[in-house]
Amino acid sequence: MVDRAPRPEAELLQDLSALDRFGRDEAGGFTRLAWSGELLDTLEWTAQRMRDAGLVAEIDAAGNLIGRWEMGEGKAVVIGSHLDTVTAGGRFDGALGVLTGIDVVRRLRAEGFTPSRPIWVVAFMDEEGERFNSVMLGSRAFVGEVIPADEAERRDALDVGMGEAMRTWDRDFSAIPAARRIDEVRCYVELHVELGPVLEAEGVDIGVVTEIVGLVGLSVTLAGATNHAGTTPMVGRRDALVGAAKAITALRDAALDSGRHMATVGSIRTVPGGANAIPGECTLSVDLRAPGAGGLQAARASVRAVLAKVCDEEQLTAALTETYDLPPVPLDPQIADLMERAVEREGLRHRRMPSGAGHDAMLLAPYVPAGMLFVPSVAGVGHAPEEFTSDADVARGAAALTATIRELAR
Ligand SMILES: [Zn+2]
Repeated sequence: MVDRAPRPEAELLQDLSALDRFGRDEAGGFTRLAWSGELLDTLEWTAQRMRDAGLVAEIDAAGNLIGRWEMGEGKAVVIGSHLDTVTAGGRFDGALGVLTGIDVVRRLRAEGFTPSRPIWVVAFMDEEGERFNSVMLGSRAFVGEVIPADEAERRDALDVGMGEAMRTWDRDFSAIPAARRIDEVRCYVELHVELGPVLEAEGVDIGVVTEIVGLVGLSVTLAGATNHAGTTPMVGRRDALVGAAKAITALRDAALDSGRHMATVGSIRTVPGGANAIPGECTLSVDLRAPGAGGLQAARASVRAVLAKVCDEEQLTAALTETYDLPPVPLDPQIADLMERAVEREGLRHRRMPSGAGHDAMLLAPYVPAGMLFVPSVAGVGHAPEEFTSDADVARGAAALTATIRELAR
């Protein structure tokens, strides 16, 4: 007998294609920013897909779309990710996790699985945080973090305030605390594209994420002496930009040597900044990331060592301030074990790995056991129209997530 029912992943692939109509530009990028019409259309379409799968779906006070399969007793197993994007972002970042969550529900229903506890699928609001610099607003509200009142005042590039944008969705900033649902959650699982090159390079199907790496931002100002480009001899100059150039290279080399931390100089500014003046001052941003406790401490120490050496060689002084400091967030080791066994049973190749990017899971993890699964990103591209994950990898991710949820909700 031929089974004519569509394979489960076929429906998932259709859903992924169906999202193409929301916020797509001519270059193939997607722009679905927080509280925009494009994102609302996306959530409404997805809410209907949730209802088609038998979930009770609604958008909460913080703009999170929550679909609930209210079966069994007790707290819910939550599958989450996000549907918002950066400007001209990719097709898979966030969307894959939400749509696969719905597909998991369809699969479990199709196989006659009766969950022992509720299963929810959540699309968190504003994971990317680009429009109002209000990153992970939805998951922050969901866990009950107080959203600082000044976030309502933040304005986008077109001078629209966040509170104002929320009103276009009939939502009010002051009502955000009503979105707190963490007390009803048993555990949290997120499937996401890796956004990096490791899985593809190693020919591995699934990454079981152990932690979200910590990150520190530094602002480093090197100071020397400004002087005339023509009358000041080359010998004995105190050129801050020359020092910065040395520092940038040395920071890269120190990170390579460590085999552990990452160091990125993303912006640089010189004073006075004229073509015919020796730069007396140079300020650079340094982004440090490292897994594990102590990883960031070692990275900071390597920055200090680099700066001390450069200052000595170029007769400069260095002032250093921290602009952000986010400690690493460990994910739950028992969920990682369970995921590994589930993935193993599906016959998939897997490896453990940290996540170098932030995800909604990092907000949930301090409150409930949380785990993440990665599927490969072709060429490691993320936050760009070229972001791509193959149909086969989408199918493998769906199998891995289904196997995980089967265990967590049995
Ligand atoms: Zn994402």
